[in-house]
Amino acid sequence: MIDLRSDTVTLPTPQMLEAMNSAPVGDDVFGDDPSINKLEQYAAERFGFDEALFTSSGTQANLLAILGHCGRGDEYLCGQDAHNYKYEAGGAAVLGSVQPQPIANAADGSIDLELAKKYIKPDDYHFARTRLLSIENTIGGKVLSMDYMAKAQAFAFNNNLKIHLDGARMMNAAVALAVKPEQITQFFDSVSICLSKGLAAPVGSLLLGDSAFIARARRLRKMVGGGMRQAGSLAAAGQVALESMIERLADDHANAKYLGEQLNTLEEVSCNLDDIETNMVFAEFGPRINPDIITAALLERDIKVLSGNPMRLVLHKDISKQDIDSFIKELSQILDI
Ligand SMILES: *Cc1c(COP(=O)(O)O)cnc(C)c1O
Repeated sequence: MIDLRSDTVTLPTPQMLEAMNSAPVGDDVFGDDPSINKLEQYAAERFGFDEALFTSSGTQANLLAILGHCGRGDEYLCGQDAHNYKYEAGGAAVLGSVQPQPIANAADGSIDLELAKKYIKPDDYHFARTRLLSIENTIGGKVLSMDYMAKAQAFAFNNNLKIHLDGARMMNAAVALAVKPEQITQFFDSVSICLSKGLAAPVGSLLLGDSAFIARARRLRKMVGGGMRQAGSLAAAGQVALESMIERLADDHANAKYLGEQLNTLEEVSCNLDDIETNMVFAEFGPRINPDIITAALLERDIKVLSGNPMRLVLHKDISKQDIDSFIKELSQILDI
């Protein structure tokens, strides 16, 4: 099976399975799980924060972040395409009475900070209180530059806002920018990182922040049912992810470029190679093509994609260059029918 739907489909590595098998565990709600404590301390130290919190998902980490920074009747600024606006079931609004203020994302994924300025509400009882700017890197496979993140940090500071990074794929951004992850995290009051996407751990995310913030997040995590018990085996896989799975993301980025080039050799498919900055490729089909039919035909040939035009294809450690060649061969045969 060749699965190009997402980098969430990555399977744990043998080293992760080994670590999971031998991980010491305890009741993490009592603070007793050595493997979770180790991962949280390691991440806090490495990424330059007081503390870290292991969460069951990226969605949960983002929810705790927004609720940790904002109270009822507050709002957060985010991109119109932000995961924590569009794809998290409105959690901050539903569970925290925190209103999102979405702002159009530019083609490069950024939020125009002059535009964002206009959305900050004056201190007036008609309005929600604007408390937080949340940005995402990578977003739709695009990388926000170091310069932009520095400007966003200054913007937040000057406007008395906190700044959160939804860094589910932050490691892809770090690899693409050729910087250390902690050079990215320095710009933010809080950061969420997914261990279970390109880094290939089976489950889990981390939320990073100062001690007071993480204490609030820990309480909120319990409230939403995210206090896990002997979850140290999951943390042990996450530890392997952070220690050994970051640099190899460069292979996924190279494979993404290769896939883009190969797609461009097919008639009725095109792909803008300049848009491929990390592990995501967007294939555009000509008007004659029905992407649902292509998706179904690919599935019959043991290839999984998400239907759409453009069709998002995601590279990850379980997709080799050979898999890309097989995918292109099958797709080309289907298009010829
Ligand atoms: C996947 C993702 C999340 C959520 O992660 P889950 O673990 O699937 O809940 C959050 N933000 C971004 C940008 C993501 O890509």
